[in-house]
Amino acid sequence: MNILKERILQEAVVLGEDVLKVSSFLNHQIDPDFMAELGKEIAQRFEGEKITKILTVEASGIPIALATGMAMHVPVIFAKKHSTSNVSGSAYRTIVYSFTHNTEYTVLVESDYLDAGDRVLIVDDFLANGRSIYGLLELLEEAGAQPVGIAVAIEKGFQSGGRELRAEGYRVESLVIIDRMDEDEIVFRDGNYDEDEDDE
Ligand code: 5GP
Repeated sequence: MNILKERILQEAVVLGEDVLKVSSFLNHQIDPDFMAELGKEIAQRFEGEKITKILTVEASGIPIALATGMAMHVPVIFAKKHSTSNVSGSAYRTIVYSFTHNTEYTVLVESDYLDAGDRVLIVDDFLANGRSIYGLLELLEEAGAQPVGIAVAIEKGFQSGGRELRAEGYRVESLVIIDRMDEDEIVFRDGNYDEDEDDE
């Protein structure tokens, strides 16, 4: 997706070997009009899939999930990382390893908001090693809901999550895939992102 590639090239900063900082439009300060465009693109890719809900994880998945939900006109659920006093009743829970914080945490969704009949699109800002997405898939499995696909703004193709998820048969739509990056250069993948990388 060209507008996202351009924005990354103009504003993103590569931290260390494998972290892309996009805090000026995606992760800290949010550009709402730009986010709306990303949401529309994801909605278009999953048109006709009869999605009933969008699922993400707090906090940085929420803006893009909300933008997608607005384009699709379906509810957006964000898995919570902390059980607060306003989590009442039963909840689906699982443990996720955080790439950016290098720690494990529990994510939960109250069982009232996910039904066995739901057709769910998982949306997140980044796909790296896939731990967040696998956690959300576990919550869907607990609920008996169907994962229709996974949509992320930025996949880091040099990390294993996208490859593993596709190999397991999940439909993964990434608005851009970064093949490699360092402080001087960010290189995007071209072509059909659903093709097996090994064929390239
Ligand atoms: P994964 O679970 O796929 O290893 O990592 C995905 C999660 O970690 C995303 O939800 C995102 O919040 C965070 N993350 C992973 N890589 C990056 C990155 O390069 N930059 C930023 N800003 N967040 C990242």
